[in-house]
Amino acid sequence: MRPSQYDVLFEPVKIGPVTTRNRFYQVPHCNGMGRKHPTALAVMRATKAEGGWGVVCTEQCEIHPTAERNTEIRLWDEKDIPSLSRISDLVHEHGSLAGIQTAFTGHWSPNAYSREVSLGVTCRPVQADVPGFASCFPGHSKRMDKEDIVNLRRWHRKAAVNAKAAGFDIVYVYAAHDEGLPLHFLSRVFNQRTDEYGGTLENRARLFRELIEDTKEAVGDTCAVAVRLAVDQLRGPHGLTSDGEGRDVVEMLAELPDLWDVDCSGWENDSITSRFSEEGFQEDFVSFVKGVTTKPVVGVGRYTSPDRMVSLVKQGTFDLIGAARPSIADPFLPRKIEEGRIDDIRECIGCNICAATSVHDVPLWCTQNPTMGEEWRKGWHPELIPAKTTDDSVLVVGAGPAGLEAARGLGQRDYDVTLAEARHEIGGRVTLESELPGLRQWSRVRDYRDYQIAKMPNVSVYRESPLSADDVLQFGASVVAIATGSRWNRDGTGREHYEPIPGNDGENVLSPDDIMKGRMPTGKVLIYDDDHYYMASVIAELLAEKDVALVLATPAPEVASWTHNTLEQERIQKRLIELGVEIVPQMRLAAIREDTVELNCRFTGKAMTSQCDSVVLVTARHPVDDLYRELTANPERLKRAGIRNVSRIGDCHAPGTIASAVYQGHQFARNIDRQLDVDAVPFRREIVELTDLGAL
Ligand code: ADP
Ligand code: SF4
Repeated sequence: MRPSQYDVLFEPVKIGPVTTRNRFYQVPHCNGMGRKHPTALAVMRATKAEGGWGVVCTEQCEIHPTAERNTEIRLWDEKDIPSLSRISDLVHEHGSLAGIQTAFTGHWSPNAYSREVSLGVTCRPVQADVPGFASCFPGHSKRMDKEDIVNLRRWHRKAAVNAKAAGFDIVYVYAAHDEGLPLHFLSRVFNQRTDEYGGTLENRARLFRELIEDTKEAVGDTCAVAVRLAVDQLRGPHGLTSDGEGRDVVEMLAELPDLWDVDCSGWENDSITSRFSEEGFQEDFVSFVKGVTTKPVVGVGRYTSPDRMVSLVKQGTFDLIGAARPSIADPFLPRKIEEGRIDDIRECIGCNICAATSVHDVPLWCTQNPTMGEEWRKGWHPELIPAKTTDDSVLVVGAGPAGLEAARGLGQRDYDVTLAEARHEIGGRVTLESELPGLRQWSRVRDYRDYQIAKMPNVSVYRESPLSADDVLQFGASVVAIATGSRWNRDGTGREHYEPIPGNDGENVLSPDDIMKGRMPTGKVLIYDDDHYYMASVIAELLAEKDVALVLATPAPEVASWTHNTLEQERIQKRLIELGVEIVPQMRLAAIREDTVELNCRFTGKAMTSQCDSVVLVTARHPVDDLYRELTANPERLKRAGIRNVSRIGDCHAPGTIASAVYQGHQFARNIDRQLDVDAVPFRREIVELTDLGAL
């Protein structure tokens, strides 16, 4: 039973001609499945509806070949209706409304597949959010003329009609994330036109108004027409701002749409990571909207706390609690609140692995929710897992993300599980890393699993229990999972360096493991980043806070290159510059000496010597797999001990992301009693059906 203070979250809300059963609104979000994996996508969305989200929206849906990015779903014509109907049908089965974010993305569309020229508010280079083919794409949009605008209005109207035919209840006009063409027209940043679509705000809002009116006229009798608008572009007064033209637009069109879905742009601001923001980070920008319109308002803010959600509704910030990432991390978040199981919520950690993977056209990963994207292809439900089918007892060695998830999943299956951890604290790397600047919320990976395991009488946790091979053999479990993690390389080998860096064995050389254990470098410090994810930059922050003079050298063109994918790179580089860290890009670390290092230009090999007293090598990791190798070296001994299987999981298997470790732990728990055919594809695939060859 839910506590009565949360009743307000379960009130129905009328959105134009439709009514949602509660205030939980899964806003559009990318997922990497798009049109290529339509059934996997539909089942993922249906799982959210099953989990209680009253509204479940699709991601951006391309409406025409002149604005395509080849990753999203499409509604180019009637042929696309069946695959989209699958989404709305499955969502409806659980009593939720289905929304579709019909979108035309102007100069944000490389059109590399269709080879049509992009149509934009002006002639501009094609842009993209993240690196890859589309960023710095050497193509430009064509400035739309009157005929293009007339065509676009017709295409949008047709897409709305087809969306209705596909069973959707809410149809969007998309003007957010710096990507939606109506936003390009609205914003002086992009719109330099001098015709009736440029100049005054009324003129710049003309296309947005027309598209909303067209959509209402086309489908508004039975479908709600939602707008998604970036009310603040965070680009200063020239762009839309919540106390300037962003507000003026909402005032101007206040009662026209049936729903206002409001946020800040670009995507890196809307989906900012927890390293750079707290829950509710957009409230200052979007809270004015409710005061300007009588229509329902939805907004996001990585909300996972029901108390916060209640206060957002009660204080009149939002009518509907929008969520992308919290719904990815826990598709059953609303159901858990409804059932009063607040502590069972698997809270998003704000790491953006979901964003990083989804934009690369693969089913999205989630650090907290290993079943995300696997609902159909592997049949993994986020809350249910089949009961055990053997009498195995399982020993899991190591309580990092992999070991914790394995123990949790096995415990849920009712296996007898023992989890042994060498340290006093469980959590492995997340416990250590969450002490680093900005990573506090990563401890949720541990806390969720710790809480679940504590409720399971069949799972015992032994802390301060470093196990040897003899300990494992004597223990008496029939299955053993080795989840002993990884260590950072101390010799500098990694992506750039196949050979150890000379001087790596000096007293003045440290690894991230040393820093996380509390050892501090002395004097002027050079951090060498050949890892390119977050670690070097958070160590730089930690040391900068202690007033250490710092140089960050890297063979890459910038710090933390990979974090473009998590939408953080620019913020990281800005923060380090502001902290006074000297950044030396495109240099290899050639040698470490007592009070200097030698750096070589990555391209020419030209050497430079830099004064520094200590070096922190952030290059690569290696598995801590001695226990696994010792155990598996003698199969006879295992047999005598009654052990039928020893597996390694997580970083001990191959160092990777925390998401990968959790995934492997979960996979181990699901597969322990399955006979796997290593020659078979380990999941279902949706194979494209060949159409008639036609005349050649
Ligand atoms: P992963 O990300 O794969 O879960 P972590 O490095 O986060 O890996 O966690 C590995 C955990 O295993 C650490 O908490 C470490 O203390 C523990 N561990 C390593 N070796 C042993 C051992 N022999 N016995 C028990 N625990 C161990
Ligand atoms: Fe949240 Fe990270 Fe999962 Fe994305 S990947 S939903 S940010 S926990």
